[in-house]
Amino acid sequence: MIDFHCHIDLYPDPRAVLDQAEARGAHVLAVTTTPKAWSGTCKLVGSRRRIRTGLGLHPELVAERHGELPLFAYLLGETRYVGEIGLDGGPHMRGSFKLQEKVLEEILQHCSAAGGRILSLHSRRAASGVLDRLEANPGAGVPVLHWFSGTRKELDRAISMGCWFSVGPLMLASAKGRALVELMPKDRVLTETDAPFAQIDGAPLMPWDVERAYPYLAGVWSCEVAAASVQLHTNLTSLLKSSGSGRHVGSASKRAL
Ligand code: MN
Repeated sequence: MIDFHCHIDLYPDPRAVLDQAEARGAHVLAVTTTPKAWSGTCKLVGSRRRIRTGLGLHPELVAERHGELPLFAYLLGETRYVGEIGLDGGPHMRGSFKLQEKVLEEILQHCSAAGGRILSLHSRRAASGVLDRLEANPGAGVPVLHWFSGTRKELDRAISMGCWFSVGPLMLASAKGRALVELMPKDRVLTETDAPFAQIDGAPLMPWDVERAYPYLAGVWSCEVAAASVQLHTNLTSLLKSSGSGRHVGSASKRAL
C-alpha cells in the first residue's frame, strides 16, 4: 500500500506509526510543513526501507515561516521529494495569498535549478493559481496534486499539464471528490491519507488506512481490489521513473520508495 502524503511527524507517537507502517509493508511519503521540520523528520524515518521524507513549506504557514526559504534552498539537494507546498485560497488565508504565490514561485524556481523534484502540492481553493505557477516553471519536476478539490475545468487542465493525483478515503467520502477521481487517468493516481489531519470518527487515519480507498478505486477502474492495488504500485514505479534518473537521491535513499 502507498500513502503518498502523510504528516508522520505530527502524530503523538510518530515512531510507533513508522514501525507499524514498515512492518505492514507500506510505502510512505512523510511530508513536512516547514524546512525546520526536515532534519527531525529524517531522523525519525531513519533507514526504514519504504519511507521517504518530503521537504515542505505549507501554504498555511507561509506568513510566519517564509523566513525559512533559504533553509529550504539549502536542504533541497538532500531530497528527491518536495512537499507539502502549494497555495491555499481559503478565506482565512486571504491575507497571505500574495506572499504564498511569491514563495511557491521561488520554491519552484529552486526545484527547476536543482533539476526537478517530485512535488506534493496543496491547492485548496487555489487550483488555477497552483497550475499557473507550475506552467510557468515546467522544469520544477513532477507535480502530484494532493486531495485535489478544484473544478472539472481545472482538473482537465491539470491532466493536460501532466499532473498526478493523490487521493484518500476522505476525498472519496464526498460526491464531488468521487466525481473528480472518476475523471483522473488511472495511471496517474496514488493514494494518501493526509493524516493525522484527516480523521474518521475522531481518530486520525493511519498510513495503512489507504486501503479503505481501494474498493472504490477498483469500482471506478472496473477491476478487482487486488488489481487496483497492483495498478497503484505500477503507478508509483512509473512516477519514480518519470521523475528522472534519481541522481539527486542521497545514498540513504537510493532504493525505490
Ligand atoms: Mn497535508
